[in-house]
Amino acid sequence: MNSASTDVLISEVGPRDGLQSIKSIMPTAQKKVWIDALYRAGIREIEVASFVPAKLLPQMADAAQVVEHAKTLPGLTVMALVPNLKGAQSAITAGVHKITLPVSASAAHSLANVRKTREEMIEEVKKIAAFRNEYAPQVKLEAGIATAFGCTLQGLVPEDDVIWLAEQVIAAGADESGLSDTTGYANPAQIKRLFKRLKAAIGNKAGAAHLHNTRGLGLANCLAAYEEGVTSFDSSMGGLGGCPYAPGASGNVVTEDLVFMFEAMGIKTGINLDLLFEARQPLQAGLPNESIYGMVPEAGTPKGFVPASQSVYS
Ligand code: ZN
Repeated sequence: MNSASTDVLISEVGPRDGLQSIKSIMPTAQKKVWIDALYRAGIREIEVASFVPAKLLPQMADAAQVVEHAKTLPGLTVMALVPNLKGAQSAITAGVHKITLPVSASAAHSLANVRKTREEMIEEVKKIAAFRNEYAPQVKLEAGIATAFGCTLQGLVPEDDVIWLAEQVIAAGADESGLSDTTGYANPAQIKRLFKRLKAAIGNKAGAAHLHNTRGLGLANCLAAYEEGVTSFDSSMGGLGGCPYAPGASGNVVTEDLVFMFEAMGIKTGINLDLLFEARQPLQAGLPNESIYGMVPEAGTPKGFVPASQSVYS
């Protein structure tokens, strides 16, 4: 399968969003085996780690080693999350292809998550962009708008704040800005409205949909975003994930279910579902005490199912 001929990009965030939000620490060797299995299934963008102090997130202490390994996989975009300039410097030194910086539209979540105001985070984007431009101009910089659909601390997040922040981070030098439902509050109507406004505000710099399944609307929200023209989706194998500073915000959209939905609809992901299901084994082996989720891996694909990426018409 040729990734150039896919219709949507599935960006696997499990090794970062998933592993950082659970107590168990997956051994480095097991992370590498899992990432290899995801790659074998056809995943071509993986958020492999976050560059944060190990005392805050011991699950991510091996970030540089994991990046080094992931970079051996040809054609894989190796991403890392960074909370600030220092993290960005470490990630760029480690050799990532793309960095993503979460910028909270909720003032309360911004302070809790990164101990900075939204205005201070815009300044941080400027500093990161300047560093990137000077030392690693090939590295892509994404600033994702976190808590874009509501916040467990603040409650309502005004839509004008979300769009304002997206415009600011692009003006500050980010290459793209997507929207994150960090708390799993979004509904499909809200998704459509905000992604439409995002596109009107920043055009082709509108980035990925990062949606959680906390209230069971994850797939419906992804479909709504797709119908609004979004083609890049973050998801997590087994639905691992959440945010340690957004209480109750569990569960990214399950990669396996998302890939099934698109493939069943004739929308090519470039991902082989059987190999994707196999990649759950190293995940579970690395986290023997954690539950992993997924409806389609449990039920299996329908009899006679022909995925779009393997269709004779592709
Ligand atoms: Zn998330």
